[in-house]
This record gives sequence, structure tokens and C-alpha cells, in this order.
Amino acid sequence: MRELTYWCELAWLPPGRAVAGVLVAVRDTVITRIDTGVPSPPRGAVRLAGLTLPGLANAHSHAFHRALRGVTQRERGTFWTWRERMYAVAGTLDPDSYLTLARAVFAEMALAGITCVGEFHYLHHAPGGRPYDDPNVMGHALIQAAREAGLRIALLDACYLTGGAGVPLSGVQLRFGDGDADRWAARVEELTSRHRGERDVEIGVAVHSVRAVPADRIHVVADVSRRHAVPLHAHVSEQRAENTACEEAYGMSPVRLLETHGALGPRTTAVHATHLSEADIALLAGSGTRVCMCPTTERDLADGIGPARTLFDAGSPITLGSDSHAVVDLFEEARAVELNERLASERRGHWPAAELLHAATAAGHDSLGFPGAGVLVPGAWADLVSVRLDSPRTAGADPGHLAETVVFAATAADVHSVVSGGRHVVSDGRHVLGDVGALLAEAIATTRQESAS
Ligand SMILES: [Zn+2]
Repeated sequence: MRELTYWCELAWLPPGRAVAGVLVAVRDTVITRIDTGVPSPPRGAVRLAGLTLPGLANAHSHAFHRALRGVTQRERGTFWTWRERMYAVAGTLDPDSYLTLARAVFAEMALAGITCVGEFHYLHHAPGGRPYDDPNVMGHALIQAAREAGLRIALLDACYLTGGAGVPLSGVQLRFGDGDADRWAARVEELTSRHRGERDVEIGVAVHSVRAVPADRIHVVADVSRRHAVPLHAHVSEQRAENTACEEAYGMSPVRLLETHGALGPRTTAVHATHLSEADIALLAGSGTRVCMCPTTERDLADGIGPARTLFDAGSPITLGSDSHAVVDLFEEARAVELNERLASERRGHWPAAELLHAATAAGHDSLGFPGAGVLVPGAWADLVSVRLDSPRTAGADPGHLAETVVFAATAADVHSVVSGGRHVVSDGRHVLGDVGALLAEAIATTRQESAS
């Protein structure tokens, strides 16, 4: 395959500095060479204006939640009333409509500079819990959607067996369940063998939450993660009610329960980790478990503010996710981590912008089973995300404060070009699939018609 070259007006190079005049050579999916001190674009090179970052990784996504944007914002309520709305959307989807919706959502992500998504997948089966002819058809739809939108995907297949400790699944939840953990594992084994050797797909696993997987079944999920050396993600302590129920059922916190059953470690990501004790923090950090913060969702659902800096200082790498897609903008997620800490502590300056960019890039890719991605070096995945420095939001940026400008002032709308795994999927702010707004509108209208009928 022939070599393509991209000339970056400015590029974010390790160990975390913006460098002017950088030529990046790409062959197939990989960066082959990086030359600095190139004052102008050589002949044949594609010019990338502004600041070019490595690819952003959205470490926690539920694609179909995008259909809830706006419609859950009018009423009062809690996480639990929001969840009823979410279940109503989940009830409408089939493999075709899921593909259409997820493709549009992943295209929205590509427009925001995201080149890899961790899709936490639990909508497995047909209504009533009946498996489709191919029991992994919904997972295949998500993988196809990511490819067509130009993203790599870690499909984190979630085990979801109960509606709470000792509570059977009911209603829409039946679509999430495999009956028992061994049947879940068998389905995941089939999915894994189908995608073996595909470099742009990682089949990982998930404990949906300690509500949804009985304590004595958690090890089944941990065993699959260990056997295949793949990521294990879990929603952890997003809500105080989850902690209370776990204490009542098992006499310990969700973090302690996961640790007891072998589910913590460097391959594991605890999503949210909002309401933690000091002992929980020590267990997560001491085991090298990662933590995915989803601040725009956590504030939307009135979850609370997790102890991100304390976890990071204790040893847990931090990643970022847009989760429910109340917005899809990893710059907003990144600055919210710092701004939340300011509100909680009444002090400024907890997170240097470069550390937040690392969370949005390399740390996220690592947690999704794509180590070495999310950094501009030879041999890494060829992901180039270019951010305008001449928009109303970013114009006038001080050359010595470009990371701060991007993290604290840019939005997803400032991303004008995205090369993802060597494919130029966004140019001049346009996605190769065309009008992503129209694709989203059409896909979401379909879910509304289904839920009305
Ligand atoms: Zn989630």
C-alpha cells in the first residue's frame, strides 16, 4: 500500500508538547514516520491546519442512549426515572434499526475526533429474551456500525442476569439476559472466535453492575477476561442506592465484592466510581484497576462527583466516556473532570491539561485493548485529529497554552479533520457518510415511531 503524508501546522507529540511543522507518514493503518521541523507542506502532503492530536478514545458508550437526548430533560426525577425512559427506547430496537442508529451515533463520534469506542453492550436478545437466530446479531450490528463510521471498537459484552440481588429480570430487561452466566460465556466465546484476528475489533467483557450479576457468578466474567487477556468493564457505585443494596445483600461495597471475586486488576475499568470509601479507592488503585469518568452523564443523571484526582494519585489510570451521549464531546468530558473538582474543593488547578488529554487519548485506548494507540509515534495506529485554532472559541490561542485552549475552550465542533486507522473519515468537518445530522434524525425518528406503535 502506498505511503500517504500529512503535514500538521502543529502536532501534539510526546511527552506532551505542541510542535510546529510536523510531517506524519502513514502506510495502511499505521504511522510509519514522523519528521519535525518541516516548515511547509511538501508536495503531495495533505495539509492539516490547527493543532493535530492523536485519536480520542470514548471509553464508555451505550450507542442507543443517544435517542434520549433532550427528551429526558424536562421532568424532575432521578437516575431511576431516567432509566425507565431508557428502557422504552431499548424495547424498540431490532438488528436493522440498531445498526442504523449506532452507525449515525458513531459517525457523530468520528466528527468529534473519536477514533475508538468502548461500546458497553447489553441489548442482546429479541423482546422477551428470545435469542435471535444468530444470538450475536446485535453485537455484529454494533461492530459493522463502528466500521462504517470509521471507528475501531471494543465491544464490551455485558453479563446481565438479575434486576437486583435475588430479583429476576422483567420487562425490557429480559432482552439483556442470557439466563445464566455459562450461557453468557458460551455466546461470548462464539463472538470472540468469529472476530479473531480482526485488528480493529476487540471483544471484551463486562459485569453490567453488581445489581445485575450475582456475586457467585462474577468470577465467570473475570475468567473470560483472563483467558483471552481482554478488557473487563463494570459500572461501579454510580448511585448510593447501589452501594446500600450491595451492603444489604453481601455485607460489603461493590468494589470489595468485585475484588473478592477476582474482577479487579489492570485489565479492568470501573466505570463512574462515584461513591467510594477510602478502602474502595485503595482496592482499585492497589490492583491497578482503571477508572472511567463520564462527567457529562454523571451530572445529567445527578449521580454525584467521583474522586478522580484521588484515584489517579493513588495509582488508577483515568479514562473518559460519553456514556449516555447527553453530549458527545470529549473536550467537555476532559474539562469537566477538572471543573467538577474545583466545585467540590473550592480550589483550582487539580489536573494539568496535558494529563486530561492523555486521559482522552492513550489511557482510553489502553483500557479498550488497543495499547500503544492514542499517541503520535511511528508504529502507532494512524489516528490524526485536527482541531481548528481559528474558530470563535479557539481564535487568539497563546502558542504556549495550546493544550489549555483545546481542553478548556474547544468543542467537538472545532474538529475539522479526522484520520482514523489511516482512513480519512472527516475532512473540512464533513463525515464520509454525508449529513450525520440527517442520519441521526432519521434513525431516532424510527425509534419514536416504534415506541408509539
Ligand atoms: Zn454506562
